[in-house]
Amino acid sequence: MTKSADLHIHTHYSDGTMSPQEVVRDALHGGLNCIAITDHDTVDGISAAIEAARGHDLEVLPGIELSTEINGKDIHMLGYLFNWQDASLIEQLQKMQNARAERMKKMIQKLEALGIRDISFEEINGSAKAKALGRPHLAAALVEKRIVGSVKAAFDKFLAEGAPAYVPKFKQTPGEAIRLIRGLGGIAVLAHPMLTNVDEFIPALVEAGLGGLEIYYPNCSDNVMRFYEGLARKHHLVVTGGSDAHGEAKRHTFIGKVRIPYDLVEKLKQAVSG
Ligand code: AMP
Ligand code: ZN
Ligand code: FE
Ligand code: FE
Repeated sequence: MTKSADLHIHTHYSDGTMSPQEVVRDALHGGLNCIAITDHDTVDGISAAIEAARGHDLEVLPGIELSTEINGKDIHMLGYLFNWQDASLIEQLQKMQNARAERMKKMIQKLEALGIRDISFEEINGSAKAKALGRPHLAAALVEKRIVGSVKAAFDKFLAEGAPAYVPKFKQTPGEAIRLIRGLGGIAVLAHPMLTNVDEFIPALVEAGLGGLEIYYPNCSDNVMRFYEGLARKHHLVVTGGSDAHGEAKRHTFIGKVRIPYDLVEKLKQAVSG
């Protein structure tokens, strides 16, 4: 059987619900040979996943999904195979996590101003293992307290960009994220371009050192995938893919929903070492 990989997975250290051990269990159960942990703005899940996979035929790649913004548009930048234990990286991620915590407090204040007073920062921070607090944590609390009926409603009514409790995140440009990952010996891959409609920026990102495009993604049509495959070829980028599994926090996907041939992992590694 050909080996397969899922290179986009979140744990409860960001806005997923699974522990690294549960992620590894599901990956083994699904017959995957390689996974990458790609939490938002934290590397805290990586070591436990590597540890849990020890002794199994499962390779765990270090990864991250960095939040960036350009001209008011959110761009998620995946990083792979970088020196994830670097002290200056940990320090920089700590700053991003602190900024996320401050933002969470502001969103809670905005909800208070809208008459929703029974959500506290302490309960969100305490209930989550998360180092990187995000809107999905707040959405889950709004659902739990029956203020809205679903996560989608929480975003539509309160948390989506432009909605009344939205607060933008710290600003980091995609170029800065690319430099950070490359500076740590890794490769930067543009996450789910089919979701974010940032094609116009791709040439500039390539100029800044972008190394790949994530073209295999849940619910992406063949046509769209082929379109990005063409863009990757044109710009000499590697292609990757993954499920973007978040456990219970995103029920439409799961570990192994998207699996890519291991050949692509080898190409990713070659791009890093080359
Ligand atoms: P944050 O990092 O706090 O800005 O939250 C971003 C995350 O929220 C994304 O990674 C998505 O998982 C989720 N998200 C963003 N927009 C929506 C939406 N309209 N409905 C549900 N989830 C969303
Ligand atoms: Zn997420
Ligand atoms: Fe993303
Ligand atoms: Fe993701």
